[in-house]
Amino acid sequence: MLIALDDTDGNDGGCTTHLMLHILSDLDLDVKGYPRLVRLNPNIPFKTRGNAALCAEVGLSRGTKTKIGEYGGKPIFSSSIVDDVPDYNYIADAAWRIVLQEANLKDEKTNPGMIVARYRPDGSHYLSTLRSVVSIDNALRNIKDMGMVYRSAKNGRGLIGALAALSWPAEKSTYEMILYSFPHPQHFSKQLQREIADLANSIPGTFNNYDEENRHAAIFPSPRTPVLCGVRTTDPVRILNFPAEVESGFPVRFTGYLLYQTNQATDDHYQESIESFEELSSYSFKATVTSIPAAIKGGHWFFNFYYMGREYKAAIFEPSKGMRLLVKDIQVGDYVKLFGSFMEGKMNIEKVSIIERARVFIRSNPTCAECGSRMQNDGRNSFRCPVCSHHSILPAYTELHRSHSRDRYEAPVAGRRHLVATIQEGM
Ligand code: ATP
Repeated sequence: MLIALDDTDGNDGGCTTHLMLHILSDLDLDVKGYPRLVRLNPNIPFKTRGNAALCAEVGLSRGTKTKIGEYGGKPIFSSSIVDDVPDYNYIADAAWRIVLQEANLKDEKTNPGMIVARYRPDGSHYLSTLRSVVSIDNALRNIKDMGMVYRSAKNGRGLIGALAALSWPAEKSTYEMILYSFPHPQHFSKQLQREIADLANSIPGTFNNYDEENRHAAIFPSPRTPVLCGVRTTDPVRILNFPAEVESGFPVRFTGYLLYQTNQATDDHYQESIESFEELSSYSFKATVTSIPAAIKGGHWFFNFYYMGREYKAAIFEPSKGMRLLVKDIQVGDYVKLFGSFMEGKMNIEKVSIIERARVFIRSNPTCAECGSRMQNDGRNSFRCPVCSHHSILPAYTELHRSHSRDRYEAPVAGRRHLVATIQEGM
């Protein structure tokens, strides 16, 4: 049996991942593999924070079990084989009672949806919800057509994300270990945050733990949710001991933890080399730079690029580190691979890799062919030697030395979107 949910939290609290933990624990369900934390279209206006939806294949485990979580002292187990639970409606009602207890229904942005299904539908629902905008009617029609058990409250928009999470095929994935302190974590000093991020860093496979540029422990989220910290990793085994190490090594209390399989840092949201761009979708494509970056008030930068017969505007908002260097380094004629989201007619840049750097020549006054002195301007496209009065109409061109420039530019850890992977060699 698969349970999927979304849209249970609002601006001032809650977290759908915590609800999944609560459901698994209260209903005594084991998880096949790992519960799934699935990020959807990062440009969607309805999102509260990171547009996440949840799904878990649950049942009663057979054979070897691994502890992957804990809630109020009670373990949550993962197994490679689980026996199905026969009564879908019973589980749906019991899980829905927990959703209604914990969901932040007063918040106008909270519109919960939950699906209980026998099988995982094909990945098309995932891809459309990740890469475009889906209507509630469309999601509901599909859910009904597939005969799934579902529950929803208010406008039921959460059904869109629940269906998408349910259909995620997990072809590429990473993992995140989340520690909770319900309803809100205690306050930690910067020093303690740094030490816990250092512990996370010492575990092989983890990434994005600490943002050196902004001196920020990125494993600690913004407040107002029960999430104490979340450590991302490519290795789901070596991270299992992290909660125990935090508990024994630091003055930190938490009420539960759970390890998720996720589509974070997979670049799954990018559509490749599409002919034209649609609002609120994300793309990766090769293009030629047609203007050098120029700033507007507020520290935002823009440059133009040419793609499939049209010129577009690219935006870099408040660039820092890698993106600041890009602003400095990029030149007209550079052939680049751009990764970004198309919003309000502009491509908001998430990362860039340079495929081929243009040769750039700087125009200057020539030296005199007669006596070798530097010539002076003498009207437009005319030069005169101040020593021997020789005339020339040919300027000199010197090639700009560009070997200091980098090949890849990306946002610092703290400014990176959940779905965006670190740019790799040859991307
Ligand atoms: P958190 O990260 O704290 O869990 P959130 O950012 O995930 O919060 P939600 O509260 O889940 O935000 O709200 C996102 C809403 O947008 C959900 O109702 C979800 O179903 C819907 N949604 C997600 N992707 C799309 C899409 N592509 N088209 C239309 N609606 C979408």
